[in-house]
Amino acid sequence: MKKFVLALDQGTTSTRAIVFNKKGEIVSKAQQEFKQIYPRPGWVEHSPQDIMGSTVAVIGEALVRAGITAADVASMGITNQRETTLVWDKKTGKPVYNAIVWQCRRTADYCEKLKRGGFSEMIYNKTGLVPDAYFSATKIKWILDNVEGARTRAQRGELLFGTVDTFILWQLSKGKIFATDYTNASRTMLFNIHTLSWDKELLRLFDIPKSMLPKVYPSSHRYGETDAGLFGSSVNVCGVVGDQQAALFGQLCTGEGDVKNTYGTGCFLLMNTGSKAVKSRNGLVTTLGATTSAKNPQYVLEGSVFVGGAVVQWLRDELKLISSADESETQALSVEDSGGVYIVPAFTGLGAPYWDANARGTITGITRGTTRQHIVRAALESIAYEVCELVTAMQMDSKINVSHLAVDGGASKNGFLLQFQADILGCTVVRPRVAETTALGAAYLAGLCTGFWESIDELKKIETADKIYSPHMPELTRFELLNGWKKAVDRTLEK
Ligand code: ADP
Repeated sequence: MKKFVLALDQGTTSTRAIVFNKKGEIVSKAQQEFKQIYPRPGWVEHSPQDIMGSTVAVIGEALVRAGITAADVASMGITNQRETTLVWDKKTGKPVYNAIVWQCRRTADYCEKLKRGGFSEMIYNKTGLVPDAYFSATKIKWILDNVEGARTRAQRGELLFGTVDTFILWQLSKGKIFATDYTNASRTMLFNIHTLSWDKELLRLFDIPKSMLPKVYPSSHRYGETDAGLFGSSVNVCGVVGDQQAALFGQLCTGEGDVKNTYGTGCFLLMNTGSKAVKSRNGLVTTLGATTSAKNPQYVLEGSVFVGGAVVQWLRDELKLISSADESETQALSVEDSGGVYIVPAFTGLGAPYWDANARGTITGITRGTTRQHIVRAALESIAYEVCELVTAMQMDSKINVSHLAVDGGASKNGFLLQFQADILGCTVVRPRVAETTALGAAYLAGLCTGFWESIDELKKIETADKIYSPHMPELTRFELLNGWKKAVDRTLEK
């Protein structure tokens, strides 16, 4: 009986491999950062060699650290930065261009044209997405339009497209596996999330040949084996999932109405809406969640906060009010409240539910008595208010009441933030024992596929909370604080 499951987490700034045991505990971990390439302002690329080099290296290292070999691994799950786009030669595996990263804005003007051309509704109805440079479709088109000879080669069927998961699968299997999963496909802006198929009309619109596209399967599925020469023996890849949906699954938010928030540089909030694709009236996107069966697609509402933990970095690096991110907690707890101060960190505009790209940050309510601690506290509170507004938007769109919020990410170690979040939402906030929820989600999906874990119920028994925050704030205080926040936002919006 093989005793371990391996998760590969290919993220935006680093690649990590983690070995988990049957109890869902981390046995070993290896990580490698790689270069961010900025060829022009607003453009972001990764070297495909870096992605593969770091992938092979961290898998090998994690196995060595665990004192095991590839033969001891029951199955492997891959989770990845979503939307990032690669195009490579079907015969040689050679990429025709660098990976264009999700953050890259090079196709923003083209996306504006799509909006002006009236394509938004059609795109939203099919893909659940709003036309944006973020998603893969316009990145593929850019490569075909701008790399010499690429379009002709693509039309001849010589080129393949993949998000990072597909590229890694293809490379690790030496070209034998050409596949992706629903969660990654749903972020390309080419995949119809209702029919679960690549959409002909969208392929025509973006002028992308269908022969470039991988087969699409549920996230928990026997994708195939890695080449035996790579790690000593072959490893079964049985899980593929985009990072945010991986975290949702890793938090075991598998029921309708389950919500998780990742407090990183920005925040990513996902709500499981079960078998229903909920349409948003509040600017959230509808996307596919991780699933173990093709017959049972799972839908998710997704929203993001542009400035989350980044406001804490701003306090530290620009205002120099704190010397470390951790210090924000003690500073915030040293005062009873924010003294009427609100910070709206609209550094790059406001996202859902306001969608005002021209809004810029404000600090309101300053008096002669305002101290550094009040400002620090207001900054942390702003993260909680923004998350609260997304949860409210999700509740309105889905008509599902949120009873608890599962949390992870760098800023989720801040106890003050999580208590305030519970208070302002009026629901419990749960931080799990294993902070690596993204890798854990990929491991769970891979393990469920082979019977390493029998069921989600079994996983629910092994997964425990690190800490649960219950709401204590009187309803009136909550109402007054939210009112104050709304007023501050009002002053932030461009009128
Ligand atoms: P990402 O994956 O986006 O790089 P992480 O999940 O690593 O982000 O989280 C990093 C963010 O968390 C940073 O913006 C940092 O300011 C914030 N952060 C880290 N520790 C704390 C803390 N104790 N309190 C508040 N914010 C924190």
